[in-house]
Amino acid sequence: MRDSPKTSVFSGEVLANAERVLRRFPLCDRCLGRLFARYGYAMSNLSRGRAIKTALAMAYHPLVERGEEGARDALAELARNAGYPLTELARYYGIGVEKRPCYICGNRIEFIIPDLVKKAAERLKGIEFSSLVVGVKQGSLIEMREREVIEYLNTDSWEEVRREVRREVGKALQRLTGVPAEFREPDVVVLLDLDKQDVEVLPQPVYVRGRYVKGGRMISQLPWITREGLLKYSRNITDAVRKVLMPLFYGDDVVLHAAGREDADARMLGWGRPFIAEITSPRRRRPALPERAGEYPWIVLSFEGLARHSDVTRVKTSRPMKAYRVIALVHGGVSEEDVKEVEERLKGTVVKQLTPKRVLRRKKEYLRERRVVNIRGRVLGGYVAEFFLVVESGLYVKELFHGDEGRTEPSVASILGREVEVLFLDVLEVLGE
Ligand SMILES: [Zn+2]
Repeated sequence: MRDSPKTSVFSGEVLANAERVLRRFPLCDRCLGRLFARYGYAMSNLSRGRAIKTALAMAYHPLVERGEEGARDALAELARNAGYPLTELARYYGIGVEKRPCYICGNRIEFIIPDLVKKAAERLKGIEFSSLVVGVKQGSLIEMREREVIEYLNTDSWEEVRREVRREVGKALQRLTGVPAEFREPDVVVLLDLDKQDVEVLPQPVYVRGRYVKGGRMISQLPWITREGLLKYSRNITDAVRKVLMPLFYGDDVVLHAAGREDADARMLGWGRPFIAEITSPRRRRPALPERAGEYPWIVLSFEGLARHSDVTRVKTSRPMKAYRVIALVHGGVSEEDVKEVEERLKGTVVKQLTPKRVLRRKKEYLRERRVVNIRGRVLGGYVAEFFLVVESGLYVKELFHGDEGRTEPSVASILGREVEVLFLDVLEVLGE
């Protein structure tokens, strides 16, 4: 048989450090075990802490038995902060011991963990999810006291209490629900509060990809609230989408992320404008979606399926070209020659636009340059002409016609040298999306 090493890891590091920290701080088994979490594999901090205390009791037994100097006093001091089984050894030698509660958790940790599991399971009831992640709020009293002990012990073998609670609660919830932990895009985040001993269940948003067609005018994309607190337009796209998706997902709200926006008085035709609807705090995640819905013929919605969070940015930053139809009123009348001239001067032209006066309240002024890719027109009679045009994303089409008092150049008004008004505007298609 080989001799055991003279300074074994156990006697040299773990036991000496454990004794040092226990002389200063009363610690429960789990909080002690957590300080030495890097020693040993496949065991809980609870059994780790219990093992250390057991070894300490075994180490002290012969010292007290032999009557070594100071051993009795040291045992008494240690037993007060460590509890079982050092308390039993002390009693055996007739030393009265008053046990002190754990400095870090106040002996609460063994109750906190199962209680948090119970509360989480209750709050997850009625919520559909197929993956979850557990998080622990930072800055709890337990965490701060743990820091204090760590600083005193000056060790790097410890594990954070947040990490342990997260793991233990996560394991228990996985057993209860059969649902795996998923860190990248979990369906549900279970947030634990150690101070309040409470649980928040946060269902993560669901994203639905869709398109909207506006068959009528005076429909805004967002609810437009006037200063008097009333809806400026009786219909809006967001509320229409909300009305369809809320009863399917049982969410708190629906946020619409659309690929741009047309004016309320413009129709949105063709295949419609793409959007991603974000449903916050949904209780259902995968209901059957209707292919078509809405408020016919004013608003027609189509749903194409579920999307991801990353699709929101993609849709919002996409810059598709758009096809428009404009009915324009030209003061003083309009001729076929006028229309020809507008076509020739604008086709392929980069238009310079200062932020339109009508949106200056909302956006700050800057100069944008957008190209008119193609434009064709015809006289409808007298003062009225119809134009079809394809322009780069972001070009203000109304201003392209009336010129915005010279802030858009060139414009149909500046080309003809006459006042021009837009009577009707339709987005015929959002291209390339
Ligand atoms: Zn403790």
